[in-house]
Amino acid sequence: MVIEYVGQNIRQVVADMREKRYAQEGIGSSYLFRVDHDTIIDATKCGNLARFINHCCTPNCYAKVITIEAQKKIVIYSKQAIGVNEEITYDYKFPIEDTKIPCLCRTESCRGTLN
Ligand SMILES: [Zn+2]
Repeated sequence: MVIEYVGQNIRQVVADMREKRYAQEGIGSSYLFRVDHDTIIDATKCGNLARFINHCCTPNCYAKVITIEAQKKIVIYSKQAIGVNEEITYDYKFPIEDTKIPCLCRTESCRGTLN
């Protein structure tokens, strides 16, 4: 285990409202992490270092939803040994959308976009 992705647990309708509000406020980066079909963890204004972990198409970590005392949590686990000063990354696994977000991971197997 590397770190838990900490934030506020919110429902889809709240996430949709917040996403629009953050865009209006000029908050460009999204720290909304989907747990299941109606649960999102919002680390925009209440989170920990996990929200700064970048996406990579060939990552050294992965995100997994686990349940502790009936509450779903997102935990980042390592896939391999991680060296000192090596960047920690995981695959965001965003759903496919028409408006593409370019991927900047620059690995050989880069998919080109996050979604
Ligand atoms: Zn990539």
